[in-house]
Amino acid sequence: MTVKGIIIKENIVGEGDKYITLFTHELGQIQISALKSTNYKFCSVTQLFVYGIFEISKIYSRYKLINVEIITTFYKIREDILTLSYAMYIMDFLLEVTKESLRQSDLFQLTLYTLHELTKSNPSLKLIRCIYELRAMRCLGFMPNTQDCTQCGNAIGELDMTKKYYFSVADGGYTCCSSSKHRLRYDTIHTIRHILNSDYNHLYKFELLPEIYNELASFVIQYTVYHIEKSFRTLSFIREIERILLI
Ligand SMILES: [Zn+2]
Repeated sequence: MTVKGIIIKENIVGEGDKYITLFTHELGQIQISALKSTNYKFCSVTQLFVYGIFEISKIYSRYKLINVEIITTFYKIREDILTLSYAMYIMDFLLEVTKESLRQSDLFQLTLYTLHELTKSNPSLKLIRCIYELRAMRCLGFMPNTQDCTQCGNAIGELDMTKKYYFSVADGGYTCCSSSKHRLRYDTIHTIRHILNSDYNHLYKFELLPEIYNELASFVIQYTVYHIEKSFRTLSFIREIERILLI
């Protein structure tokens, strides 16, 4: 059989036996063996981030790689350590949220658009992470409510530029019934709505004032941690590099 997939993990076991984990369009997350005897021909085509058409066979419950036709390797991601680290975080994130036999076409498309965005020159890495996480929340069924109060159901109504609105991470979005740490402005709510609803072609095509980015990032990062319940080592690594580079 053939599947379209992105390599989200590569693993060498023993004396060169290689396993790759794919996030596939058709079968969700699957692990495939590319055994030593055939490894030499798969070395370069079974690297992290490779997006391609994978010919595989299933023997009992295990998948074996037969052939790969590369669509893209996203090689430009590897030219900058920080860009590479953010891309690796996205792979870690996918390892956590994708499952075998669970088709997640929307998340698959989002990931391809995001990896492509990371190949551009001078990508806004922090903003890309924020956008990816928030849109992924929608793909995973955790879309925050930006229209009605999550407690009493009252509509948020026409947004007022002079007002600030409370958003609750635990309640899943806008609230008029209680105050919360996340007091968001008109522009921030518009940005959240854009990220949640834009088509992928336009998803990354905007810039933000620093104060709006800070509000957005504070909300999105906490919202993601709350719903995914996992701390990622790649994020600690990114924080460390950014601390050293004073970013
Ligand atoms: Zn309310």
